[in-house]
Amino acid sequence: MTDCKKIADLIFPDVTKTADYYETKYPQRNLPEGARVTRFAPSPTGYLHFGGLYAAFASKFTAQAANGIFMLRIEDTDKKREIDDGVSCIINGLSAFGIEPDEGVTGFDSEKGEYGPYTQSKRREIYRTFAKKLVEEGKAYPCFCTAEDLDKIRESQENEDIKGYYGKYARCRNLTDEEIEENVNAGVPFTVRLRSEGDISRKIKFDDMIKGKIEMSENVNDVVILKTDGIPTYHFAHAVDDHLMRTTHVVRGDEWIASVPLHIELFRALGFRPVKYAHIAPLLKEENGGKRKLSKRKDPEANVTYYIEKGYPKESVQEYILTILNSNFEDWRRANKQESVSKFPFNFKKVSVSGALFDLVKFNDVSKNVISLMTAQKVYEYVTEWAKTYDNELYALLTADPKKALAIFNIDRENPKPRKDIACWSEVRDYLSYFYNEIYTPNITLPEHINKADACEILTKYKELYSENDSKDEWFAKTKELCTLCGYTPNVKEYKANPDAFKGHVGDVTAVIRVAVTSRVNSPDLYYIMQALGRDEVIARIDTAINFYRG
Ligand code: GLU
Repeated sequence: MTDCKKIADLIFPDVTKTADYYETKYPQRNLPEGARVTRFAPSPTGYLHFGGLYAAFASKFTAQAANGIFMLRIEDTDKKREIDDGVSCIINGLSAFGIEPDEGVTGFDSEKGEYGPYTQSKRREIYRTFAKKLVEEGKAYPCFCTAEDLDKIRESQENEDIKGYYGKYARCRNLTDEEIEENVNAGVPFTVRLRSEGDISRKIKFDDMIKGKIEMSENVNDVVILKTDGIPTYHFAHAVDDHLMRTTHVVRGDEWIASVPLHIELFRALGFRPVKYAHIAPLLKEENGGKRKLSKRKDPEANVTYYIEKGYPKESVQEYILTILNSNFEDWRRANKQESVSKFPFNFKKVSVSGALFDLVKFNDVSKNVISLMTAQKVYEYVTEWAKTYDNELYALLTADPKKALAIFNIDRENPKPRKDIACWSEVRDYLSYFYNEIYTPNITLPEHINKADACEILTKYKELYSENDSKDEWFAKTKELCTLCGYTPNVKEYKANPDAFKGHVGDVTAVIRVAVTSRVNSPDLYYIMQALGRDEVIARIDTAINFYRG
């Protein structure tokens, strides 16, 4: 007859606390009815993947929409795969996109909240207490099999439908107390395994928040819950942590679905109420007419530092993530144009079951739209903040004359149809290069249908008409006057009706001025550009163009 209590004391001589102690230490949370407690639980094994950010947002938004708590837990039980600055990569990555967890790890060796520690390597004592409880209750046992023993078991299972450590293969499941004592006293390394009570012919049913109803066979494997070094496996740590942190909803990658029967069995064996699951499919990317997973290896945009380096504001990233995360987000946005995303009623039912499509072109469009709605002041702050690290020259130019920079960013902004030119801050240098001679390389090539002599005439006459004190209406009236003076018509319709009667229309005349002043055929409002440049610069550029066209 096995004396489970004795075995538990033998293999966990260091454990002095009890499960009850922790149940009391981490009480049920005092939250409003229906509040959700979620967490993002990455391993610090590399840079933050865009897919990770996407899942983190799903966790955050669901907690936020239900007045709950969103935590950050660091799952660092696999020391071999860990990288040095893994935790900072995660924290900086999240914070760059506006994710500040309500609880959990906040930095190197710092955290906030009453349900910690939030770093798994600091929870060793807790895992061991709960593993001891399972051993005491006969629900777990020490296993002395070596890696070679396990290899042999695997080899002998070639023809088995079910692989793993179960039934006749579970060699340590029924060791006698004497055998266990002998091994432990001889210092034989051991793992601790769950004594599974599953039956392969029985089904387990659960309702996934995203995937819907799922039915799977029960787990039958006596899986390892503590490794030989006393560190928990992901499965065991998940059950213990999410119970003690009082998580209500676990949002995670759908590669974990296959483990749900085991996880539910663990929750039950431990006497815990299972959490609700929301399994997210990986992000997809279109390629050669097909779809494939967004890949860390192949796609630079899979790394969140891509967005930081290019200078995408957090608002754009949030807006795009919600666009692909909830299929009704765009409708909501159309109806709530100015509303903060924090007001969006996030819903798991609207998350793609098979994987959302990640599309950089669409991302850029969303970002342009988001930036077009920002004030010039906000754009200025964001650009200078970004440029401080990534473009020193631009930083110096913008901060040397903030008034000029603000005037530039204000062109065509704050009107019902703001221009959508900028998708990210690294595009700003090119966007405003013609405002700063230090970074401006003129290229005043005329549109093909306009000849140099006509351009000279337009520019020469314009110089006589131009005054920097003109209002916009006066400026426009002069442009029209200039048309007439040079054989063009101010009226495009008139030109179309009778093209032979004119050299061209007002669009051609402004094109000549625009090219001379900005080197572009397309630009924001020319009147405001000329205001920002100032009279001297405008005249100097017009003179340069006249000389250039004259040859
Ligand atoms: N550390 C696990 C991972 O990175 C977390 C999975 C989970 O959220 O439970 O895949």
